[in-house]
Amino acid sequence: MLYNSTENKSEVVSASQAIAQGISKDGGLFVPQELPLYDKETLSSLLALDYKGIAKKVFSDFLTDFTGEEIEECVNKAYTVQKFGGENPAPVSYKKYNGNDINILELWHGPTCAFKDMALQILPHLLTKSLKKTHDGKDAVILVATSGDTGKAALEGFKDVEHTKIIVFYPVDGVSPMQKHQMTTQEGKNVNVCAIEGNFDDAQTGVKKIFTTESISYKLDENNMMFSSANSINWGRLLPQIVYYISSYCNLVNDGKIALGDKINVVVPTGNFGNILASYYAYCMGLPINKFICASNSNNVLTDFIRTGVYDKNRQFYTTISPSMDILVSSNLERLLYKLSGDDDNTTRDWMTKLKTEGKYEVTPEVKEAINNAFYGGYCDDDETKSTIAKLFKDEGYLCDTHTAVAVAVYDKYVSETGDKTPTIIASTASPYKFSKSVLSAIDDSKLNMSEFDMVDKLNSVTGVEVPKPLSSLKDKKSRFSDVVKSEDMPEYVLKTLGVK
Ligand SMILES: *Cc1c(COP(=O)(O)O)cnc(C)c1O
Repeated sequence: MLYNSTENKSEVVSASQAIAQGISKDGGLFVPQELPLYDKETLSSLLALDYKGIAKKVFSDFLTDFTGEEIEECVNKAYTVQKFGGENPAPVSYKKYNGNDINILELWHGPTCAFKDMALQILPHLLTKSLKKTHDGKDAVILVATSGDTGKAALEGFKDVEHTKIIVFYPVDGVSPMQKHQMTTQEGKNVNVCAIEGNFDDAQTGVKKIFTTESISYKLDENNMMFSSANSINWGRLLPQIVYYISSYCNLVNDGKIALGDKINVVVPTGNFGNILASYYAYCMGLPINKFICASNSNNVLTDFIRTGVYDKNRQFYTTISPSMDILVSSNLERLLYKLSGDDDNTTRDWMTKLKTEGKYEVTPEVKEAINNAFYGGYCDDDETKSTIAKLFKDEGYLCDTHTAVAVAVYDKYVSETGDKTPTIIASTASPYKFSKSVLSAIDDSKLNMSEFDMVDKLNSVTGVEVPKPLSSLKDKKSRFSDVVKSEDMPEYVLKTLGVK
């Protein structure tokens, strides 16, 4: 299987090149030229497999320049019982909300308690193997700018992985206390964490600048290193996310909730559009999906886009209690537009250029109609998020995080608007304990001036819901990283950290 750039079809690469390179030279994203098709018989054969078995099948269909043994090794190293706390790293919990069944796909049982582990636990293995095939002998230097969850998940995925080093930059005042503590206590010989004076955009811009400064790349090259990226536009992050939509469908069949071939809806709390796009690819491969429900918080640029066909990022930015969705430019949307425009690289490039220059573009009536047929966009504000957490806990004793609550609230609106009772999977993207303060405030707002870990204990005593080990064990860990630099000093910091002159 070959991959090409969404902005230039003549740029064609292998799977390992797509993963090693991360982004195409022309700025486009790599997409598979065609998708494997899973008919009913294939899906039926997957019912007997466990998560790893399904992952191996999907990976081998997409990563055709990997050997079976290589894929086996990557999958076995990533989805261990030790790291995910069970045989199934992505179990489904069957609950009810407002009288409707909600099947909650829990994607946060990994080492950092957010769904990014599902991809970032395997990406380092895919990447080191890809680099071996394409850039033999070089060590990969992973630079990450994070608003919280990605940084920790990348650190945990890359820690002590041979031939890699990772440096994470986060905005000094822009992450939650738990997220900061998770990152600054990170273990591993090849990791480094640094705060920058500025916001997430400054960190992101700084990283991009380092990537594209030739004199820095040259210095790395002389020292047998090269930059690589772990952000969500890398194909190696999207592919692992396709697996859990297929596996959860199999779970529903095996648990007697649906019959093989029945359609389902999926609801995904969305930021960069990566997670929901993975479900769309699963659908294009043959997974029976009726509707994609794209759930946003008050930063509802996607809701408006799905309803009007106009993407307009020129709007107020809100800081919400679901911070991983506080995004106005959803980078993975580019892949959907490419697909819906009939693999039209020129049109896709035009839209992306407009987004960069005017902050706005409008798709064609055909693409708008295609989006409307497949997707529903909805959003909710912080108050609705909190009342959803409270109601779900009161009715079912089930505690969910703020991002998952956005999905549940939007699903509730969808059902009342449409009456559609198709069985539905809701992607749950973080443990409630990752956002203890907001979750606690939804349930009991009497004690919100406590320290982060006291708040975790309080939430635990109020709800009786177990605290995930990776979070409870952080309490007594010492901070290892305290560097703070100005964003303009990031290049110097990177070279110093790598020991390159
Ligand atoms: C990253 C993240 C999201 C958004 O996922 P996208 O793939 O960017 O749409 C939602 N919830 C949580 C908890 C996240 O960490």
